[in-house]
Amino acid sequence: MTEQNAAGDSARQKLIDDPRAIRHRLKSLSKDLWWSWNEIGRRPFAMLDPELWEAVRYSPFRLLQKVDPNVYNSRLSEPSFREVAARAITAHQDYHSRRTWYEANTEPGADPLRIAYFCSEYAIHESLPQYAGGLGVLAGDHLKSASDLGLPLVAVGLLYQHGYYKQEFRDDGTTRVIYPSFDFDSMPLDDTGVRLDCPIGDRTVRVRVWAMSMGRVPLYLLDANLPGNRVEDRALTASLYQGDDDIRLQRQVLLGVGGFRALRLLEEVPTVIHLNEGHAAFAAVAKMAELVRGGLSMDDARERVRASTVFTTHTPVPAGNQRYDAGKIEAALAQVTEPAGMHNGYVANLGREEPGNEKEAPCMTVLALNLAERVNGVSKLHGDVSRNMWKKVYGTEDVDQVPIKHITNGVHTGTWMAPVAERFWSEQIGYDSLGGPDNPCWAKIPTVDPEAFWQLRNALRRRLLSFVRRRLAIQSRRRGESPDRVVRSRRMLRDDALTIGFARRFATYKRATLLFHDLDRLASIVGNDDLPVQVIFAGKAHPADEGGQAVAQEIHDLCRDPRFDGRIVLLENYDIEIGRRLTSGCDLWLNTPRRPFEASGTSGMKPPLHGGINCSISDGWWVEAENNQNGWTIGSDRAADNEDEQDHLDAASMYDLLEHKIIPSFWDRNDDDLPEEWIKTALQSAASVPAWFNTDRMVAEYLEWGYRPASLIQA
Ligand SMILES: *Cc1c(COP(=O)(O)O)cnc(C)c1O
Repeated sequence: MTEQNAAGDSARQKLIDDPRAIRHRLKSLSKDLWWSWNEIGRRPFAMLDPELWEAVRYSPFRLLQKVDPNVYNSRLSEPSFREVAARAITAHQDYHSRRTWYEANTEPGADPLRIAYFCSEYAIHESLPQYAGGLGVLAGDHLKSASDLGLPLVAVGLLYQHGYYKQEFRDDGTTRVIYPSFDFDSMPLDDTGVRLDCPIGDRTVRVRVWAMSMGRVPLYLLDANLPGNRVEDRALTASLYQGDDDIRLQRQVLLGVGGFRALRLLEEVPTVIHLNEGHAAFAAVAKMAELVRGGLSMDDARERVRASTVFTTHTPVPAGNQRYDAGKIEAALAQVTEPAGMHNGYVANLGREEPGNEKEAPCMTVLALNLAERVNGVSKLHGDVSRNMWKKVYGTEDVDQVPIKHITNGVHTGTWMAPVAERFWSEQIGYDSLGGPDNPCWAKIPTVDPEAFWQLRNALRRRLLSFVRRRLAIQSRRRGESPDRVVRSRRMLRDDALTIGFARRFATYKRATLLFHDLDRLASIVGNDDLPVQVIFAGKAHPADEGGQAVAQEIHDLCRDPRFDGRIVLLENYDIEIGRRLTSGCDLWLNTPRRPFEASGTSGMKPPLHGGINCSISDGWWVEAENNQNGWTIGSDRAADNEDEQDHLDAASMYDLLEHKIIPSFWDRNDDDLPEEWIKTALQSAASVPAWFNTDRMVAEYLEWGYRPASLIQA
């Protein structure tokens, strides 16, 4: 035992003997979202009151607020509880005191770097439904890796009173949209004490700034729901992406201008601004106005802002590249731009592909492109697509001249890897959650024992299925279905069947219904009891997206078709918990977007952390990951003339793969009942995907390509 370990052990022993200190320290631990990506940090809370733990959606903070004091006291009197608590507390302490990757990789005396990261949504944990989908998941994972690596980063966002909606299906398959109302006192937030008046149009909106601790990274969240504000202004932070264009525009002023001013009042002096998606582009406008008022010329100010801003564009889908009326933008920003002399449609023109073309409605993406020197798409293919899409902004037809590059998205390994898988990889290949961007453990996959691996897979699938059955029974009971059906839900699905997962936002380009393209063919696939196959769906559509809502309804109805009933199921309310459980337990992860609209996608990066396998259209991140041995790629070489033909070709290719490759591989067993071929592919998946498609690698790329060079220009 090293001296350091000995010292750690004795500190822990002292804690174990001190229930009062444990109580005190668990309280501060519950306010650091570090627990959302470190299972050791959640363990004492889960143990404290297991039933309440589920009821509070696994929030340590909420649990401590609600736990019966007698229950807590009696737990504290148990040495075994104090031991688990002390382990969590010391792990948390070690996390904050250890030398970070960033420190180890930064020259002493290097120019100070301070990154301000702006995003309109953050997905951190299921107890905080402040996100709609992939953008939020990516932002949450970015912060977790920034904290793990020790980057000097602060984050800015909005705190939504109602978050994103909770989804329930009515009997006819339509969606009931439920907006919960959050009590911010029941969330792990600190009031920073900072209040500001955010100028929007000709008025100001009073804003409160909250802070949430993401390990080493502070996340500042703006809240406009204050008593002195007009009702409409209070509603600006009511819920995600709700409201008409005017409201969205004002909300983006709040995020960009309000967020930038909040940093000033918090005495944060960022040397770099990272705009994660165009929603926050007004932060760069606010910074430019500040520089002009400080005495710089307009051109110098703009150049300074450009040089110190990083912008990530996230989607080629038009709805994700919002345009607003030029006059409305000018009016909304007047109090910011007028005093800086940014007159005559200055900002509107920065948002145009053709400056001066009054017919063109300014676009937030273009504005961000014009105010950021370092711009990236989120996969190699999306980099290509973006260069082509935005070449006009750079005044060229030659895509090679367009200075947009790519940094492929990743997932935060510790957040998405199930604890049983983490234990397995630790034992088998020496996995370490703080291994940094070049985590070498994945190269050791060939040494993994196939039989032990198959046991892990079976255990993960069983765990998932018992969760799915529980959820189906709850759904069934809530709808008042007959007791027979409720009981049946509890018995549906098989523990040993090839389990296929499809969970994502039901945006139409994702083609969630492609699997149902040929109902007879699908029926023969899932109806073959010699080679059992089952499918689990989950997904939400934006409440205002009628096409997406129709997709949800169609899948809902098809699940009740007698041919699919009990073999294809749909879970309500896709969220982080469902995402985590499905991606850990499913054998096969299906992804069928219409190429090239899935800019990256990240859900498919999660199953390989558990030896799950992808079957995907060649789109987004998968283009870079596929290697013929680690999964299956849908699609033929034939180019289609139109969308219908494309759907037809892709569906046929998908069925062929299922019938001739995937299902036989899963069900071809050796004398020990092991699917040798399947295991080989699964281990290839684990060997090739997590090593690169993780946010430690991604954040390290942002650091070297974006943050460090951009920071050399002092703010
Ligand atoms: C991973 C994840 C996403 C992002 O996945 P996509 O591949 O972009 O669909 C979205 N929502 C949840 C809940 C997730 O876990």
